[in-house]
Amino acid sequence: METQELQILVVDDERDIRDGCERILTRKGYQVTKASNGEEGLKLLEKNHYTLVLLDLKMPGMDGLEVLPRIRRMHPETLVIIITGFATIETAIEAMKNGAYDFIPKPFKPDQLRIVIDRAVERKRLTDEAKRLEQERLRTLQDLDMEKSRTRTIIHALPEGVMVSTPDARVALMNPAFIRMLDLNGASKPGEAIDHYVADKDFCDLVATASQGDLPEGQESLAYNFDVEERQFFMAHSTPVMSDMGECLGAVTVLVDITELKMLDRLKSEFVSQVSHELRSPLSTIHEQLAVVLNDLVQDAPAEQQHILSRAKEKTQGLIALIGDLLDLSRIEAGLVMKEPEPVEISSLLGGVVDFLGAKAKGKKQAITLTLPETGLPPVPADPQAVESVIGNLITNAINYSGEGSLIEVIGDVDADCVRIIVKDNGFGIEERHLAKIFDKFYRVKNEKTRFVTGTGLGLRIVKEIIDSMGGKIAVESKFGEGSTFTVHLPLHQE
Ligand code: ADP
Repeated sequence: METQELQILVVDDERDIRDGCERILTRKGYQVTKASNGEEGLKLLEKNHYTLVLLDLKMPGMDGLEVLPRIRRMHPETLVIIITGFATIETAIEAMKNGAYDFIPKPFKPDQLRIVIDRAVERKRLTDEAKRLEQERLRTLQDLDMEKSRTRTIIHALPEGVMVSTPDARVALMNPAFIRMLDLNGASKPGEAIDHYVADKDFCDLVATASQGDLPEGQESLAYNFDVEERQFFMAHSTPVMSDMGECLGAVTVLVDITELKMLDRLKSEFVSQVSHELRSPLSTIHEQLAVVLNDLVQDAPAEQQHILSRAKEKTQGLIALIGDLLDLSRIEAGLVMKEPEPVEISSLLGGVVDFLGAKAKGKKQAITLTLPETGLPPVPADPQAVESVIGNLITNAINYSGEGSLIEVIGDVDADCVRIIVKDNGFGIEERHLAKIFDKFYRVKNEKTRFVTGTGLGLRIVKEIIDSMGGKIAVESKFGEGSTFTVHLPLHQE
């Protein structure tokens, strides 16, 4: 505390004492005001605030003992130091009981006064500091409390379902949207394990895995779509919550109701499938008629007209392929295409497709090699036509997206409890930024090399849908300008 800030009032009827105190204290840098009796002192106290009051006990008129309680009432923080003669020490003690801070007996030496004042100033500094700290603590607590209730209000108001779980997959918090979405009104109190609230086992497994922070390398959250009796559809994302020390404290799961989107998607698929059906036969007729015209009727027509007609025939062929893909995809998406699984001999299936597409590859002076283990491959439970479509699509892409003279390698082997099929080319390759999207519907990479390759952007989507429905996996690695490798895992046993 700066000494200048300290205002000291000396109330004493003895002029020498008043002036003496003033001299000593002013030299120390304090601001000193003097009063020669109790009444005068109180008047000054009514108008000003003093840090310290030096108060004489024995004064004519109103004495110190009378003045003290009034100072205490007016300024409870002001420290009062009693100035007292030896004879009145007992009264001074009495005054201290009534709230005076200290006393100094008369006559006193300058040093004695300085010591008493310094002690009082130090005390004042400490109480101010304690008060400041207490206020800070209260403010922090208040802030925390406000922050807590603000966060609670936000979580409660979110339209998405939010659920917080502990590392042992117990529910710690559910917001109203989560309770409403899963119709949990009967069991809306948290505290139980997640499977107490939600029947879908895979969802509960996902929450348990995320709650333990058990995520695959490089993944920040787990995603899962599920439905309740095919009536309501949800998309869930579970993210582990890690402490600063890297310890997993549980998980936050966000649930989004995608029922409307699903319905819309279904309607769209039905529409696409209907339109495709309607278009397929007239288009096929046009295509056949164009073929007849080209073969039989316009042999003698000028080359330019023949060129126009053959372009038209190519275009209809492209449209027929697109419609075929669209129909396949909508059937796969509707879960209609997959037949009852039967044991499929992947080796011979691979051999068949490689032979069939070998001719196409030869046309581009490309070579296809097939490598299989000597012991052959164990059968995979699947729909053979669907597996053929997967392999056919991958090898066709390898041929289409590689230049003349390229090499395409097809490898079949066993990897853990799966048959692994690798289709590798040294063709155009795919830039990193496209890799995650090539399995999306209608996604095609457009660049100088792919410009002249016709396609629909549906092939890899169909491949992915089929593999997903079999519980398998597909991955791609590629380097632009060097080639691509697609790796498929098909499980040997059905779940
Ligand atoms: P489409 O071949 O009809 O365009 P796909 O879904 O089969 O559709 O493939 C999507 C895109 O992925 C292709 O347009 C192509 O750009 C890229 N692609 C697929 N396979 C390969 C490959 N082996 N090499 C390079 N690019 C490929």
